[in-house]
Amino acid sequence: MQTMPNNPSADWEVLHECSDCGLMNRLPPPVAGRDIFCDRCNNKLREVKEPSLDRAMVWTIAAAFFFFLAVSTPMMTLGLLGNFRTGMIGSGPMMLDNQGYWIIATLVFLTTIVAPFLKIAGTFAVLLGLRLRRYLAVLARLYAFMQHLDDWVMIDVYLLGILVAYSRLQGIGHVEIEASLIGLAGLMVSVVAMDRCMDPEAVWEKIKDRAVVNVGGKVIGCDTCYQVAYANEGEACPRCFEILRHRKPDSLQRTSALALTAAILYIPSNFLPIMRIAQINKTTTYTIYGGLMELSRVGLWPLAVLVFIASIAIPVFKLLALGFMLVETRFGTARNLRQRSHLYNILHFIGKWSMVDIYVVSILVALVHFGWLTQISAESGGVYFAGVVIITLLAVKSFDPRLMWDAAERKPQPSFVFGVKKSA
Ligand SMILES: [Zn+2]
Ligand SMILES: [Zn+2]
Repeated sequence: MQTMPNNPSADWEVLHECSDCGLMNRLPPPVAGRDIFCDRCNNKLREVKEPSLDRAMVWTIAAAFFFFLAVSTPMMTLGLLGNFRTGMIGSGPMMLDNQGYWIIATLVFLTTIVAPFLKIAGTFAVLLGLRLRRYLAVLARLYAFMQHLDDWVMIDVYLLGILVAYSRLQGIGHVEIEASLIGLAGLMVSVVAMDRCMDPEAVWEKIKDRAVVNVGGKVIGCDTCYQVAYANEGEACPRCFEILRHRKPDSLQRTSALALTAAILYIPSNFLPIMRIAQINKTTTYTIYGGLMELSRVGLWPLAVLVFIASIAIPVFKLLALGFMLVETRFGTARNLRQRSHLYNILHFIGKWSMVDIYVVSILVALVHFGWLTQISAESGGVYFAGVVIITLLAVKSFDPRLMWDAAERKPQPSFVFGVKKSA
């Protein structure tokens, strides 16, 4: 039985719905450095940080500088028999588009340029708005949008892609590292630092205090801003204006459909080549597995292991884990609920790393175009693989882990007790 406050209006300030198990927790007063965990599933509810919006602003400005450096300067130069090719981050998507692979081009462009730009510009606007105490309703909508953006900022994965591409390029010609790489590394560090200075719950409180909400409907926790409201399904959150839902709509059906689609696409994505290297005397096509073998053949074992984990193991693991969670939810099993919730969080965290091979192709096609001498182009396997990565990301997002707890709670479990500890 889930505990609800007897007199909800007295508790609005401290109620927080656990996104993993759905328990309404009463949060203790925040103490910087002391994280708050769910009473039932031990999920981290809030990372209480020393709030410093000024420091966050400094890191945001640093991130903007590094972003500008990263996108406006060359990344690498490749020399082959006196010919030189220089590539920027944007060259990859442009080249892929020229070769007819606009889907991969768009994906690379969105995750490496558009999403980081929106994250920096949005954070700057939110911090400035909070300082001026103006346009707070607009800020609420903007900050809500930014909560959805984080999953699509993939600078760290792109840097791993550069490392793999660099190793492959060394086998083709002479490679020089350029300024954009410093920009990318600085961007990654400053975005992490920027996030560390912002406590989302504290930012929400600065944008708008928790409203005591109209009584009527049921108690729903907002997934975006943590406000708990008495509301009807589908009404707008009084604080961030996102749609309030007790649980993600049609979660199990959507997740099943997406996971099945990804499983089907996984087959061609592994059997069809993802790129082609045309040289004077021979043309070789590489599947994901072939690229992996090539890395291990030239002795780059650690990279081969990383690519194996990112490109082959993670998608399979995600699909198996999602299948397992769907079946367990269907049967309302109460076994290992905590572990399953943790598994869900792991799936959420690892998903984006499968993008690494897509980035490698994007970097290689941007640099290796020496006409009849050596030419690298993308192949259709990349489209299927990009499909697998994106669809599994969406499948994980559409799964609602709270349903596992709901299902177990509905089914009588002889030896299972839902002990709900009340915190003071
Ligand atoms: Zn929980
Ligand atoms: Zn909200």
